[in-house]
Amino acid sequence: MNDDVIRKLIDGFGRFRSKHFETEDSLYQRLMREGQSPSIMVVACCDSRVDPAIITDCDPGDLFVVRNVANLVPPYETVGHYHGTSAALEFAVLGLNVQHVIVLGHARCGGIRALLGGLQEDSGVGQFIKPWMEIAEGARADAAGAGTDAKAARAVEQAAIRISLRNLKSFPWVRERVEDGRLTLHGWYFDMDNGDLLQYQPDNSRFLPLR
Ligand SMILES: [Zn+2]
Repeated sequence: MNDDVIRKLIDGFGRFRSKHFETEDSLYQRLMREGQSPSIMVVACCDSRVDPAIITDCDPGDLFVVRNVANLVPPYETVGHYHGTSAALEFAVLGLNVQHVIVLGHARCGGIRALLGGLQEDSGVGQFIKPWMEIAEGARADAAGAGTDAKAARAVEQAAIRISLRNLKSFPWVRERVEDGRLTLHGWYFDMDNGDLLQYQPDNSRFLPLR
């Protein structure tokens, strides 16, 4: 076992603690007193390079986050038992009354690569990822003809964000709040190749830089 990697976390927690707990009126004192009241939920990927709070320089308490492989929102359905992402969405929308839900996709997504057939079968990975990625199956067709592998992956990553935005509206309480203006849905794409953050424009179906 490599103790250094764990040591890094413990040292990091020490710095975090002195920043947020050891001052008179620290952020956590307020968060404990008032509870959490984030106005934004983010659906992000598990990828270690795309932590939403880090890439947007947010503070504790700012974002309610659920992360899963390829930042997918499943469609509303009541069969089955283990709806982790739907449970988080339900709590954010009905419990915390968030005003925004951001689906945050990203370049070089391993989940999307798996959807495009890039799983190394001999690695043993796939039993859970394959059926999970079926949520984004339609993205492959959407992005057909996108050209080279890199371009195609990017097109599928972005098409998968559009599918998640569509699936969000299949939840009756999301649809209702979007229609009456209490909730706004956003599709963002972290382009780590170029260091850009892009936003989906529903009017022309393009992703353009957020500045
Ligand atoms: Zn990913």
